[in-house]
Amino acid sequence: MRFGRRFGLSSAPARAHARVRGDADIAVIGAGMAGASLAAELAPHASVILLEGETLPGYHATGRSAAFWSESYGGPHILPLTAASGPFLADPPAEFHDRSFLGPRGALSIADADGMAALEAFSADFAGLPIRLERVDRPALEARIAGIKPRWTAAMFEPDCSDIDVAALHGAYLKAFRRDSGILVANAEVEAIRRQDGGWRLETRAGDVRAGEPPTPRR
Ligand SMILES: Cc1cc2nc3c(=O)[nH]c(=O)nc-3n(C[C@H](O)[C@H](O)[C@H](O)COP(=O)(O)OP(=O)(O)OC[C@H]3O[C@@H](n4cnc5c(N)ncnc54)[C@H](O)[C@@H]3O)c2cc1C
Repeated sequence: MRFGRRFGLSSAPARAHARVRGDADIAVIGAGMAGASLAAELAPHASVILLEGETLPGYHATGRSAAFWSESYGGPHILPLTAASGPFLADPPAEFHDRSFLGPRGALSIADADGMAALEAFSADFAGLPIRLERVDRPALEARIAGIKPRWTAAMFEPDCSDIDVAALHGAYLKAFRRDSGILVANAEVEAIRRQDGGWRLETRAGDVRAGEPPTPRR
């Protein structure tokens, strides 16, 4: 539901504005992967402003990710979340992006004699769970990694581990956000947040923003 609020600037949606003074149902702080995706999901349902402290979205962790999609990363308790993201990343809706965000990679966790117990524990942690993990012995390891030092004697191979096209994914979320009239403001580091009139007042380097106030009834 939109509450009909307006931003107080010359705002074609979809632009990163130099200065802002306005209000929104929801303010999201930070236009990295978390903020951009959250803002995009919220934008069809409310007026949303996305406040980024840097000159462009994507600095910091999002711009530095090694960009693996690995179901084993984080352990068996994180696996359901990673697995749930797989179909969307592999085959996103056409209106969101026209190709897969994932590319084939595969991952090997290798062990020497001292690491065998850890390798067994790694394997046991995921036993019976919906993840493909294949045991690799020394000859198979040599076939995969030419010249690997003799001390590495065994490995687990995770064939479904993939590269994530982070730039495309981040860009697709920002595009969807803009399509739903979301407002992105760069150079808008949030310096203070205060309660005001039942909502929030955010003081940014680009001006103040009000968010989350009770909606003004429509006439
Ligand atoms: C080296 C490295 C490798 C990684 N490898 C992987 C990987 O292989 N696979 C994987 O899934 N994940 C990986 N990650 C993790 C992944 O990149 C992060 O979990 C993800 O990008 C975090 O997104 P974020 O939006 O939370 O944070 P960020 O991308 O850091 O975004 C936060 C944003 O908030 C802005 N901000 C902060 N404070 C304010 C403020 N007060 N006002 C306004 N804006 C503000 C920042 O400028 C920034 O743009 C890796 C991370 C790193 C650093």
